[in-house]
Amino acid sequence: MQVSAQKVVFIHYTLTNDEGEVIDSSEGLEPLAYIHGQGNIIPGLENALLGKSAGDRLNVSIPPEQGYGLHDKELIQAVPKSAFHGVDEILPGMQFHTESPEGAQLVTIIEVQGDTVILDGNHPLSGTTLNFDVEVTEVRDATAEELAHGHVHGEGGHHH
Ligand code: ZN
Repeated sequence: MQVSAQKVVFIHYTLTNDEGEVIDSSEGLEPLAYIHGQGNIIPGLENALLGKSAGDRLNVSIPPEQGYGLHDKELIQAVPKSAFHGVDEILPGMQFHTESPEGAQLVTIIEVQGDTVILDGNHPLSGTTLNFDVEVTEVRDATAEELAHGHVHGEGGHHH
């Protein structure tokens, strides 16, 4: 069975940046399971997997535009420290979820200057070329329930 829309696809993957550093990997874990064609994974990887079958391996280099986007300077903003009431210590590298008009957004503190905190709302992997080493381990049809929920059930997915 080949990867196409509405198939459940299981992959093992290792993600490295252009410096060869491993950013993420499924090694030692269950394979990642996703429903093809629903935007569950980044577009560049989804496109590369189309038509593949269980046992196929691929190496794909995905530019930021097909991954987590280019780094947008407009998403860097300064907020007063008082916005973080309840947080004892505010340090660069800390991440918070905030509510924005587009939904939940992950922001990273990049600098603290006195009473001002500089936040970056870009995805931590924005502007990064993503090099995936992928092995397809299984392809199956999605169930009607999985398609209705928009995620995989059972092994590698949601248990509910
Ligand atoms: Zn569900």
